[in-house]
Amino acid sequence: MSNMAQLKENIKTFETDAPVTEEEEKALYKIADSLKKGVPCTACRYCTTACPKGLDIPHLLYLYNEYLFTDGGIIAKLGISAVPEDKKPSTCISCGKCERLCPQVIPVSLAFREFTEKLKEDQ
Ligand code: SF4
Ligand code: SF4
Repeated sequence: MSNMAQLKENIKTFETDAPVTEEEEKALYKIADSLKKGVPCTACRYCTTACPKGLDIPHLLYLYNEYLFTDGGIIAKLGISAVPEDKKPSTCISCGKCERLCPQVIPVSLAFREFTEKLKEDQ
């Protein structure tokens, strides 16, 4: 949770203990399956000040997820083309500083390496 609105929403969700319906369960499994393809970045931005390359890590991870969820769709490609050359995922030096701060334990440098490879293959 990153703000008060999200906190209130979560409290509301857990106020009732009604089980999920069969339909809701199916929808949840579908979402869970799609999440397996990406990284669970919450855009908390705890990591960003640590990056020696000044990368906008959550934005790049958002584009990476978008790329995976849409099998390399247009939004991710447009998004990455708008990122300056010196701020693209390929400039990550795998120092691991962001990863040590990430509460979601996201392997950021690996994700950026994979994203870079996928973008290259896609050219
Ligand atoms: S691993 Fe990459 S993204 Fe993370 S802090 Fe180092 S240079 Fe930045
Ligand atoms: S610390 Fe982790 S979850 Fe938070 S913005 Fe950075 S990569 Fe995403």
